[in-house]
Amino acid sequence: MALIVQKFGGTSVGNPQKIKAVAERVLSYSRQGHQMVVVLSAMSGETNRFVDLAHQMQVLPDPREMDVLLSSGEQVTVSLFAMAVKEAGFDAISMLGDQVKIVTDNMHTRARIKHIDSDGIKKELDAGKIVVVAGFQGVTESGDITTLGRGGSDTTAVALAAALKADQCEIFTDVEGVYTTDPNMCATAKKIDKITYDEMLELASLGAKVLDIRSVSFAKRYNVPLHVRSTFTDTEGTWVVEEDKSMESNPVSGVTYNKNEARITISKVPDTPGMATKIFNPISEQGIVVDMIIQNTRDGELTDMTFTVPRTDYTKTMSIMEKVAKEIGAEGVTGSKNIVKVSIVGVGMRNHTGIASTMFKVLSDEGINILMISTSEIKVSCVIDEKYTELAVRALHSAFGLDQEKA
Ligand code: ASP
Ligand code: MG
Repeated sequence: MALIVQKFGGTSVGNPQKIKAVAERVLSYSRQGHQMVVVLSAMSGETNRFVDLAHQMQVLPDPREMDVLLSSGEQVTVSLFAMAVKEAGFDAISMLGDQVKIVTDNMHTRARIKHIDSDGIKKELDAGKIVVVAGFQGVTESGDITTLGRGGSDTTAVALAAALKADQCEIFTDVEGVYTTDPNMCATAKKIDKITYDEMLELASLGAKVLDIRSVSFAKRYNVPLHVRSTFTDTEGTWVVEEDKSMESNPVSGVTYNKNEARITISKVPDTPGMATKIFNPISEQGIVVDMIIQNTRDGELTDMTFTVPRTDYTKTMSIMEKVAKEIGAEGVTGSKNIVKVSIVGVGMRNHTGIASTMFKVLSDEGINILMISTSEIKVSCVIDEKYTELAVRALHSAFGLDQEKA
């Protein structure tokens, strides 16, 4: 007998028939004698509908009231799910965040879990019930409802699995797992069987939308093996796990891209102490997150500083930079929104050489100009013109041996 936490996303519980089908799926585990904790999202589209309603009431919706509203979608699915289980002749109990006691800080709409009291859930499990927990929500020490940020149900599931010391944590979604690249962009993309937390973190932050990134950090911290798989098939999905020796043989595990950034260059910056802080302080004061930075020095001569910011902050950053450029005596500011960051990710990179240079060669063979480069231990990223995204992704996917073999 195992204790299993299973989370189902909005598309998996999008209507009554789907909820019944998911209940059947969970029951097939109960029948084998497993203890089941089920975490549910709101029906697909619901949370967006609530956000829209809120904005019809208040330009900037009150955060506390927003959480009371947003958390209601999960209340619907967990109650319906418990009813479906009971209709099938088994016992279940739904629990909201404050009933479990998923205690969070008081940062409404983006709260963080502080601790979970798992005793209540254990008692219900021991009484033979399937415990159905509302995802995405918690409660502050003083009793206010909070939500964990969009996509937060994944984190609820992982946090519960850690608190309950569950044998397994499965995230059910509408795709088969994590792919070597975006299957919509590259027909030869294949499902990854096993990936490390660190690789998944890089892939998630770079644009893979399968798993909420905060849940992966949580899983890593508490060493919870995650199984991401499809609600609609029985096929094994992708395991996200701690690194082991076998995972180092492939230098590259995935190719990813991010179109949400924009590039800004401030040209002919004086090469004197204090320039970087004069440039980046006003940006961070506005809460704008800078990603890549490239700076060159030429021994006292004027030099360029190039960096990227989220595309949505482009206009704001450009106007800040024009002011800064004048103040520090730089020549001017240029930029482009039409860029993409293409990255290759893999823990195997640590002990393979020539990975970055292979990437540069692949891009150059396709006639693609590299605008910026950055590397970390398990990742190489190149910023290129957005119009070459597809070409670059496909060429890299193929060059690093990730293409699916033809059947
Ligand atoms: N329903 C919430 C959202 O759409 C949480 C989740 O589904 O993970 O963001
Ligand atoms: Mg999700």
